[in-house]
Amino acid sequence: MSEYHHMCMWSRCKILKIVEILSKTYIDYSEFVIRDALDDGYLGRPSNYFEFLTAVILSQNTSDRNAIKAFSNLKKVLGEITPESILRAGDDVVKSAIRISGLVNRKSRVLKQIALFLRDNPFYLKDLEKMDVEKARERLLELPGVGLKTADVFLLMVLKKPTFPIDTHINRIVRRLGIASASDRYEDVRMTITRYLDSNINALTMLHLLLIVHGRRVCTARRPKCSQCTIFELCCRNI
Ligand code: SF4
Repeated sequence: MSEYHHMCMWSRCKILKIVEILSKTYIDYSEFVIRDALDDGYLGRPSNYFEFLTAVILSQNTSDRNAIKAFSNLKKVLGEITPESILRAGDDVVKSAIRISGLVNRKSRVLKQIALFLRDNPFYLKDLEKMDVEKARERLLELPGVGLKTADVFLLMVLKKPTFPIDTHINRIVRRLGIASASDRYEDVRMTITRYLDSNINALTMLHLLLIVHGRRVCTARRPKCSQCTIFELCCRNI
């Protein structure tokens, strides 16, 4: 085995070390967002599964701030967000409420399609609670507009099932760190990390949120700030 590969061997301990270091680095962020996420308060405190799913869909391709704003606008105009209230509302009402989150046509279409489906299958999301993670994932992926990341965010953050959602920041960082190789696909990375963390929900949630903030602040797409990086020693990019 080459020296490079030796230094880039990953293990549960090394990944937990990343969680430990980054929680200290982003203590400001961790105290609020992570505590909230671990205590069910993620994404602006939705009150039912459909609201959670709406919040996750609104968060696609936008910042947390805009997603939360769009979500609370929608709640303001609809009251509780339910399949029925979405279907009752006019297209223009939904679109103008969520405009700030971007991709308005796509997001409003997806919300309507899911609302239609769930109105006819009212226990579809509730039934996922009893399923194992992979079965529940398959069912979520059958919903219109729900891709791998959206399904995994819902499974981990809302249903507290062991999986690992990978967004663009995480995708970039795990390759730089050497946890995943360039040719690994979404599924490979998800399975590898879930296995390394022994399917521990808190560790998976922490790692997910901490890597996102690390990707935004330090391990940016262009010119990562490696000289300021607190996990530099664990990273394979600079070997
Ligand atoms: S050392 Fe650089 S590439 Fe590695 S995680 Fe830190 S910022 Fe990213």
